Amino acid sequence: MYKEQYTFNISRFMDEERFEKIISFAKDIPTPCLIVDLDIVRNKYLELQASMPNYKIYYAVKANPMLEVIMLLNELGANFDLASPYELDQMLNLGIEPSRLSFGNTIKKVNDIKYFYEKGVRLFATDSKLDLANLAKYAPGSKVLFRILTEGTGADWPLSRKFGSHPDTIYHLIVKAAKMNLQPWGISFHVGSQQRDIGQWDDAVARCKYLFDAVAEEGIELKMINIGGGFPANYVDPTFSIQEYATEIQRFITEDFGDNLPEIILEPGRSLVADAGVIVSEVINVARKSKNNLYQWVYLDIGKFGGLIETIDESIKFPIYFPRKGLAEEIILAGPTCDSMDILYEHYRYRMPEGTVPGDRVYIFTTGAYTQSYSSVNFNGFPPLKAVIFEEK
Ligand SMILES: *Cc1c(COP(=O)(O)O)cnc(C)c1O
Repeated sequence: MYKEQYTFNISRFMDEERFEKIISFAKDIPTPCLIVDLDIVRNKYLELQASMPNYKIYYAVKANPMLEVIMLLNELGANFDLASPYELDQMLNLGIEPSRLSFGNTIKKVNDIKYFYEKGVRLFATDSKLDLANLAKYAPGSKVLFRILTEGTGADWPLSRKFGSHPDTIYHLIVKAAKMNLQPWGISFHVGSQQRDIGQWDDAVARCKYLFDAVAEEGIELKMINIGGGFPANYVDPTFSIQEYATEIQRFITEDFGDNLPEIILEPGRSLVADAGVIVSEVINVARKSKNNLYQWVYLDIGKFGGLIETIDESIKFPIYFPRKGLAEEIILAGPTCDSMDILYEHYRYRMPEGTVPGDRVYIFTTGAYTQSYSSVNFNGFPPLKAVIFEEK
């Protein structure tokens, strides 16, 4: 088996001094555990806001709903995009004004619409006739964003197909909404999460422009574009910087809309919180299943059910750091549960330094988004992923 010196560039994913502090902070915490560094969330938010100063941020709460994260973003002036009455309750309990909330999920029960409306939320997204009718009936007078379908091409975690409708269908919904007791407010889209092709926003903005013009002929003046999420976090596969995304997207919008710019909002989830998280895990076992097997199996105490579900199809490649030094060989990585789909990576080959033994800690970077909120409840008895806010000692 081919071996080479183990190298892992920590500084690509986190300031090394910061990481040392996180290691020492986590020293006595049982694994697996997600450590979240709020300073990084703050920096990500400020960086994004500075790169798109005229756009309003609606944080997609589902990416990381930890209380401290929401409180920090609230303090920084963020708005919040919600998907359920449970998320709404969480926001209201923190005293966040309903005027800073939107109900962006296009899939909603009548009772949920009623609840959001009763609590004062007046910005909703839709993509279908029946949902629109429910909004007219149970959220009268509200502002409505119409979600267009995107392909999700270029995204590591596409959200395509399930959400949005074709622009022609959306056109008819807008015209219909104008005759109802609703305010047709604008167009929304999501180009797919961890979208590495910035050009996908160009296509989507062009579709918005087409719809703005088409409904203007019916006397309907749309006012807003919601350019969704999809902004990148720092995983194994590289992306452009947020600054480059911001520059390009603003250029696309100006090219299509000129001086007559609509109000723009965005709904980042992943890009604000992913880089702020490190999962501390432990090697449970290292096994070669036959004398002639090329690769060893390495079992960690976290897997698909413990919070790393985005490893499905190896879509998201988390940076995984083994602290030992030495020669390394390629391995297959799997989680701890009794389900054979609980394999993290077998096609993309991670490397592990030799001498790594059960009990060694392993650090998984860029895990602040879509990990704890995705972890299962008591499958095989394992509790949902524990998450702790990093505190400097
Ligand atoms: C999940 C979601 C987002 C956040 O997407 P990211 O790719 O994590 O930034 C934004 N808007 C909507 C409607 C979503 O469902």
